[in-house]
Amino acid sequence: MKKLFNVKIDYESCKSCGICYWVCPTHTIVEGLLKSPKVVDEDKCIGCMQCVNLCPDFAVEVVQREMVSENG
Ligand code: SF4
Ligand code: SF4
Repeated sequence: MKKLFNVKIDYESCKSCGICYWVCPTHTIVEGLLKSPKVVDEDKCIGCMQCVNLCPDFAVEVVQREMVSENG
């Protein structure tokens, strides 16, 4: 079973510092327009919570959404 997560950025709070996409090991969050973070593929998120823990503005939310079978 693979855990899946929802990854949400609160753009009202985000200061586009870049920490979340520098630390994300799976490139779930990447650098977008004007250095703002962009979530490209939530399915790649492994729930390591580094983005959540290191964001100085508490602007990232990662929530487990479901368990799916690896082979469909
Ligand atoms: S770490 Fe937080 S403030 Fe910095 S770019 Fe990511 S969401 Fe925005
Ligand atoms: S929890 Fe980890 S893998 Fe998921 S978006 Fe944040 S840094 Fe990337």
